[in-house]
Amino acid sequence: MTLTPNNAGWIEVICGSMFSGKTEELIRRIRRAEIAKMKTIIFKPKIDSRYSSNHIVSHNQSKLESVLAKNANEIIDRSVGMDVIGIDEAQFFNDDIINVCKTLAKQNKRVVVAGLDKDFQGIPFGPMPALMCEADYLDKFRAICVKCGNPASCSQRTIKDSKQVVIGESDVYEARCRNCFEAPKN
Ligand code: ZN
Repeated sequence: MTLTPNNAGWIEVICGSMFSGKTEELIRRIRRAEIAKMKTIIFKPKIDSRYSSNHIVSHNQSKLESVLAKNANEIIDRSVGMDVIGIDEAQFFNDDIINVCKTLAKQNKRVVVAGLDKDFQGIPFGPMPALMCEADYLDKFRAICVKCGNPASCSQRTIKDSKQVVIGESDVYEARCRNCFEAPKN
């Protein structure tokens, strides 16, 4: 990735399906910034008690400390003095997260946002389409389809539940390609 000059902020978006390595990539970028002695902080949305750990953890068990944000706007106040702001699970914030990212970038901060681009029905997830549009740098990652081994960009829910947010990992979701993905019936 070519970085923009000093004294400029920008937005990086890392998106893709579940199991595509988004959080792993977010952790890698934040670690690189820490090595460069930059001040970093990572936020994730407070969704429910099962999600209240103060770390982000990737599927390969890499982890970094994170701050739980009850809403998008509190991220601005808590980012004062920081150089690099990481935001994980951005799809769970409301649309305020879009302006929050733009504000931070205008304050010459580097904003690294990771999130699911599509929900379990294959529909664009919350603020992600707008964040992808605002991104100065955009990476879309794929997983590997558990059915056929092709590149996978869909998150298949393996239990019957019509809520948009069902927290879980490999017990509730698996990666599927476009052909093997079965949109849930209502
Ligand atoms: Zn497949």
